[in-house]
Amino acid sequence: MSNPKINIAIDGYSSCGKGTLAKELAKELNYLFIDSGAMYRAVTLALIRRHIAVEDIAAIENLLPQLEISFEFNSALNHYQTLLNGDNIESEIRTMEVSNLVSPVSKIDAVRDFLVKQQRTIGLNKGVVMDGRDIGTVVFPDAELKIFMTAQPEIRAQRRLAELRQKGDVLTTFEEVLENLSSRDLQDSTRANSPLLQASDAIVIDNSNLSREEQKALAMRLVNEKLGTL
Ligand code: C5P
Repeated sequence: MSNPKINIAIDGYSSCGKGTLAKELAKELNYLFIDSGAMYRAVTLALIRRHIAVEDIAAIENLLPQLEISFEFNSALNHYQTLLNGDNIESEIRTMEVSNLVSPVSKIDAVRDFLVKQQRTIGLNKGVVMDGRDIGTVVFPDAELKIFMTAQPEIRAQRRLAELRQKGDVLTTFEEVLENLSSRDLQDSTRANSPLLQASDAIVIDNSNLSREEQKALAMRLVNEKLGTL
């Protein structure tokens, strides 16, 4: 078969650079990049905007069908944007307010069912690189390539803080970021529904001491090995 396409699942801890690697692979392979975390963040933002509490499952179930989450690539800014019912929410979903609430929201069965269904539909035609927590285990259990990324917590917090600073947040401290990452990792790993888990057939990349170029080269080797077997 010529030009077979595969699905690539990239899971791992918070702020490990999953998104950066996923975007680079998608660009190189001309695949679709999907940031599943942005979808959970979009739902979280919608709840905050409507003052709906995470305990109010009936209100959440009522709200979900009204939410349309999509992505577009802004070529002028050279980055992906998340849209909620057509509005660009990219900056708002990256704030600490959303980061602090997203893990409790992601535990809710109705939210996971709603988003996982959409993610699976996106993957039906293959040629997708999706990053998240449960992509290799739940969303695409048959993904041809699964990568599980990890890095030392302090290194991850430092990278995340640099991103926030670049976006103009001068108030959040290193300790707050580290606390948010640790707390999300704990909540994401211990929840009952689709916890953050390394799939048994995932390949681990610890990028604590790897440059972006080294990670990409390593991942592209894995992709080419896989494509070579199809
Ligand atoms: O990837 P990101 O850090 O933006 O994800 C934000 C949060 O969304 C995670 O901490 C986790 O609670 C949730 N999430 C999830 N399942 C995914 C992706 C993200 O539960 N597949």
